Amino acid sequence: MNIDSIKNGIVIDHITAGRGMELYSLLKLDTLDCSVVIGKNVGSEKMGKKDIIKIDADIELDTTILGYVDPEVTINIIKNGKIVDKKGVTLPEKLVNVICCKNPRCITSCEQELDQVFTLTDKENRVYRCLYCETKAK
Ligand code: ZN
Repeated sequence: MNIDSIKNGIVIDHITAGRGMELYSLLKLDTLDCSVVIGKNVGSEKMGKKDIIKIDADIELDTTILGYVDPEVTINIIKNGKIVDKKGVTLPEKLVNVICCKNPRCITSCEQELDQVFTLTDKENRVYRCLYCETKAK
């Protein structure tokens, strides 16, 4: 897959193979009017296989979600068919309303007004726990 077809937009590159769809749904890319292309298991010299997402519009991406799903991704900003900027993301310390707690007895399941808050409790293993009941995400 090449990026030549995009004039102005964003390419999310170096996504760990298999995580592209998760990013697609968490970033709510299905709600965009522009064209979005997901490449799955694309060959990569560096990673063997990777996923890649091309968005044919200059939108604001939620870097918290990107960092949560895959802190290894690279964001390429394309202007006039050229890469003008490359950005990495970092593992977020806190997730607010990104994912929901799976514990049916968690207070966030009953109180709809409460924010769904997860905090990073184990950086090395990328473990997030619900702020209220400490249930592990994923
Ligand atoms: Zn919870």
